[in-house]
Amino acid sequence: MSEEKLTGEMVMDRHPDIFRERSLSMQQTCMCWRLEVNEGWLPHIDMVCTLLDEYAKRTGIQVVAEQVKQKFGDLSFYHRLEIPEGMDEKQAEFLSKRCREIVNTMGTLCAFTCEWCGAPGSTKGSKGWINVFCPDCREKRNEERGA
Ligand SMILES: [Zn+2]
Repeated sequence: MSEEKLTGEMVMDRHPDIFRERSLSMQQTCMCWRLEVNEGWLPHIDMVCTLLDEYAKRTGIQVVAEQVKQKFGDLSFYHRLEIPEGMDEKQAEFLSKRCREIVNTMGTLCAFTCEWCGAPGSTKGSKGWINVFCPDCREKRNEERGA
């Protein structure tokens, strides 16, 4: 791993099949708004997308992201699954369920990760907008707000 700081654009570049809608217009997709999350969550998104790329290679089930944003302290990863043509219905259902389990781990990790620095965090003590903070970032934030 390089020490270069991960950006949303880099994450999308690294998983072009999942983020293939990034270059469509805003009439066609919400992905034109890019990844609407702070940088603390990007490593989790990148890591789980790596798993999803591997899964797609092995099963043919392709995740296509439709909108990615933070909502009430949770990651909302809206997506659809593309099933290979001619796949048996039962098999497709089984593989889709497994695929969703992988997708869900992304949100599970983010729920306990500071949105700003990636350290362990929680939504405890959020005022107004709900965000996931580590203790340090929350203190800094409250100071900035004069709380
Ligand atoms: Zn933090």
